[in-house]
Order: sequence, then C-alpha cells, then structure tokens
Amino acid sequence: MAMSTEIHLPVLGETRNASRPSFALPAAARTNSHVFHAMVKPSGAACNMDCPYCFYLHKTDLLGQSRQPRMDAQILEEHIRQYIEGQNGEEVVFSWQGGEPTLMGLPFFKTVVELQQRYRKPNQRIENDLQTNGLLIDDEWADFLRDHKFLVGLSIDGPRELHDKYRFTKGGQPTFDRVMAAAQRLASRGVSFNVLCVVNRDIALQPLAVYRFLRQLGGIIQFTPCVEPRDFSAAAPARRDPASAPVVGTSAARPGTPDSIVTDWSVDPDDWGNFLCQVWDEWYRNDIGRVFINLFESTVAQASGLPAQMCTHAEFCGKGLAIEHNGDVYSCDHFVYPEYRLGNINETHEAQLAYSDAQKAFGFAKRDTLPTDCRQCPHLKYCWGECPKNRIIKTASGEPGLNYLCTGWKKFYSHINRDVMDIVRQLGPLPALG
Ligand code: SF4
Ligand code: SF4
Repeated sequence: MAMSTEIHLPVLGETRNASRPSFALPAAARTNSHVFHAMVKPSGAACNMDCPYCFYLHKTDLLGQSRQPRMDAQILEEHIRQYIEGQNGEEVVFSWQGGEPTLMGLPFFKTVVELQQRYRKPNQRIENDLQTNGLLIDDEWADFLRDHKFLVGLSIDGPRELHDKYRFTKGGQPTFDRVMAAAQRLASRGVSFNVLCVVNRDIALQPLAVYRFLRQLGGIIQFTPCVEPRDFSAAAPARRDPASAPVVGTSAARPGTPDSIVTDWSVDPDDWGNFLCQVWDEWYRNDIGRVFINLFESTVAQASGLPAQMCTHAEFCGKGLAIEHNGDVYSCDHFVYPEYRLGNINETHEAQLAYSDAQKAFGFAKRDTLPTDCRQCPHLKYCWGECPKNRIIKTASGEPGLNYLCTGWKKFYSHINRDVMDIVRQLGPLPALG
C-alpha cells in the first residue's frame, strides 16, 4: 500500500476566506497512462527488530529465504530499468520497505539513486520513499535521505509504554528512545517523514493519548489497523475455508477470546471504530489543515468526488506490486504468498506482470467479491469493503467475505458523515481530474 496520502486539506477557516485547497494528486489519478507502483523488499523479510505483530517477518520461513537475504546488483538494476521503462507518467515513485531496508547499508541506496538517474526518461521525476524502524538512522543516513529527497515513513506506535509493548529488538530491548532519536535527527536535518502507527488492541483503547503524541512529531500520520488471523504466517488471505469463518459480532470475530480467529494483539473492530471517531473529533475541532491523517484526507477526497488516496478504500486493487529481493513479483505487499506470485523480473518484464490477466483478476476481485451487505451499504463509496486481506468473517446472514473491521467502519463513517459534508461544502468545487 502507498505510504503517504497525496492530498492536503487547508485550514477550513482560511478556505472560507477564499483560499483554495492545494491538491497534489498522484500521477496515476491524473492520467490513464501506464502507471503502477511497486514496493521493493531489498533485504527480504530480514529485520533488526522482532515485533510480534509484524506481518512480514514470517516470510523468511514461508518463502524459504536465507537469514540475510540481499538484492544483488543485477536484480537491482533490472528493477530500476524495468520500473522506469514500464511507466509513462511524469513521476515514478520507488518504494523501499522490508523487513528493514536500511540493513542494505547506504552504499546500496547510493547505487539506487545513480541507477535511477541513468535510466530516468527526459522530463520524468523520480521520487523515493523508504519505510524504516529508524534504528540505523544516523547523521550520514539522514543527510543522504535529505539530499536525495526521500520521503521517510517512520514506525512509531505512540507514547513509550505503548510503543515498547510490541516494538522491540531481536534481543528484546525496547526501542522507543532510539526511534525518537531518529525522529529528532530526521526533523533537525530537514528530512520529510511520515509517522506510521499500527493500531493494535492496546493502542485502540487510547486514541487521544496516541494521537496527541504523534501529532507533535509533525508529518502525515498513517494509522494502520492491526488485523492478523492466527494462521496468517502460513495461510494466504482469502484462501481459508469460508464455511469456517465466524459471523460478525460473535466472540470468534473479536480478539482475546478463546475461539478468536485473530491474534491477541489484533484490534477489536468496535474499538477501531471508536478510535477513529475520537481522533476525528479532536482533529476536526482543532487540527484540520494543520495535521494530516491519511485516512481522513482520503475520505474527504472521496466525498468530493476524487479517487481514494489509499488502496484499501479504492474500488479496485492491483496497482501496487511487491517485489522481493530475488526479483519475485507478488500481487501486493499483503499477498506475498506462493499463490500470489506473478513471476520474476529476470523472466518477465515487471510492467507485463503489473498488467497481466492474473493481476487484473486480483484487482477486480476487490469489488467483485463484495458480499451483499457491502453492496447495499450506505458507506460503500468510502469503504469499498476495505482491504481484501481483512475479509475474514461472515455477515449476519452467513455470507462470507465480510471485512473483520466492518462494525468499526460503520461506526466511523456514520459518525463523520455530517462533518465530511460540511468540509466539502466549505471547500467548494474541487479541481477536475484530467
Ligand atoms: S490487497 Fe488491495 S487493498 Fe489490500 S493492501 Fe493490497 S492493494 Fe491495498
Ligand atoms: S462498512 Fe462494512 S458493510 Fe459497509 S462497505 Fe464497509 S465492510 Fe462493507
């Protein structure tokens, strides 16, 4: 999923006084051209941290990776060449993730920017983003990231006690101080960074404490709900037996119960809704136009008739590939399972994989497999059944394919409906796409 939102709402009071919102929509939304996105894992699933809720660490075993996988020079150059070659938008966005991509070391990323310049087409803008846990970010890294205008996604799960509960090193040491030092280093050296917060079961119970802590760090805040079926390390989403899925509202469809289908740290669906509602109220009252929260900005964009800025809330998926260190390409970062391997860039051009029939089917399935409840839901135009990886429960009538977070989404969208309409009214007509 794309790391950052691309839309920035103005302060509403200022909008009333005639200033127009400034929108920076992604190239993909502006054109019908060949534009896709790939999240690259140069160090595979390797990481210097050991967060129990990590959705990627277990890929080491699932994909049979070595303990220290590394993208070699040939695969790196192939990816950069093909990724640029396969796109004709004015901007090409490279995303580096893991595992922990900084384990590759700075020389790897110096090669990255050299190769990007070598293959860049005339008038084409190259952008990079890097998602990191921050532990290795020293002055040299920060200077590099600033000089090459990387947008950094830094994982921080709120105040110390919440962050340190799940985010610790391989040796079990807490990481809060080291991550905060990285945030300070990035800020003081002028590196753009967003804050990535995984909303687990504990964090969801403290919405305001978490939000107030994160907003003081600056940047866009990206809240990601933690939803992990107990068997997520081995079983691909949507490949489970639908007959055994629990019905919405039952104990098995909540975390922390003996028959739960999700891990204990997964967020409770109702708590997720409550978390979003409380953060929204605080943001809407005090911070709109000053603090950027990707989901909120995206929802307002959707209400204004613009596309969702997050794949999870779009009608279709399919434009965000994941590429492993060995050149294997998967349908999505959240579908790195053998069944969703599209091919390898040494054998097939990655643009061909991005537009393959298998990938198109994957993308359309997001809409085409929605249960009746979703199709008839008043919030469909915002929610779109959220991410297919979370569609692991049944509706009250027993239809499979309902999103685990459904009750939370309903609560949130009902709660903000009036506010959103008010914002849209104040913003006035927005720039047409085209
Ligand atoms: S499966 Fe679809 S909605 Fe979920 S993260 Fe991937 S592209 Fe986004
Ligand atoms: S709120 Fe629930 S029923 Fe409505 S679209 Fe989302 S997941 Fe489906």
